[in-house]
Amino acid sequence: MSIDGDYDPDNIFAKILRGDVPSVRVFEDEHIFAFMDVFPQAKGHTLVIAKYSQARNLLDVEPEILQPLILGVQRVAHAVRSALKPDGLVVTQFNGAAAGQTVFHLHFHIIPRWEGVALGRHAGGQMADVSELTQLAEQISAMIS
Ligand code: AMP
Repeated sequence: MSIDGDYDPDNIFAKILRGDVPSVRVFEDEHIFAFMDVFPQAKGHTLVIAKYSQARNLLDVEPEILQPLILGVQRVAHAVRSALKPDGLVVTQFNGAAAGQTVFHLHFHIIPRWEGVALGRHAGGQMADVSELTQLAEQISAMIS
């Protein structure tokens, strides 16, 4: 998938937003939806997406969508930090397959990091246990302010 192209309404995140595919929800408001990455690169790896946009990446998103989305990313990142007390947090976002993007609905990754703990593989590691993800989502959700 190139950096350009049409939005596919049947991409996995669109299906999650429609409720056609299950997800482990962390938080949502009128603009954003945050949920656990099922192939986490670290404990607490959370994704944040815009609910009402057909942007595939950062380059084609409308400014009025990006503003509440990035503020939502910050809000969820604060909650991840409070809940899991990592030593650091990585926020990533990929544009185009060549850059590592695998799902073409704009999203931000919030990945907690701990000293001495290696980062897992991007979009291809071990599928997480849903009950563990649910527990983490509850912990993070409780810290949203
Ligand atoms: P990217 O490669 O930046 O497009 O990121 C897509 C992310 O979505 C990867 O980290 C995947 O592990 C994650 N992912 C793929 N399918 C699902 C799913 N059904 N639920 C939650 N996360 C997913």
